[in-house]
Amino acid sequence: MRVVVDLSRCEGYAQCAFLAPDAFRMHGEEALMYDPEPDDAQRDRVLRAAAACPVQAILVDRLEGRTERRDAPLEASRP
Ligand code: SF4
Repeated sequence: MRVVVDLSRCEGYAQCAFLAPDAFRMHGEEALMYDPEPDDAQRDRVLRAAAACPVQAILVDRLEGRTERRDAPLEASRP
């Protein structure tokens, strides 16, 4: 999965680091470090972190359509 954090929005609330510590980590009080390609095993935690971010700075899978790395084509299952 792909993750992008809009660091211009991030206010360093650390909700994400608390909910998905393998993908997001605080460095100091405000600097956020994150894994842009966390393992799919992290998906639930990363999605929870994205939902909990007070400023919606975490974007998940928004870039997948532009890469060669797409897995199952979800559109195919639509009616
Ligand atoms: S929860 Fe949102 S605002 Fe807080 S550190 Fe994570 S990305 Fe930044």
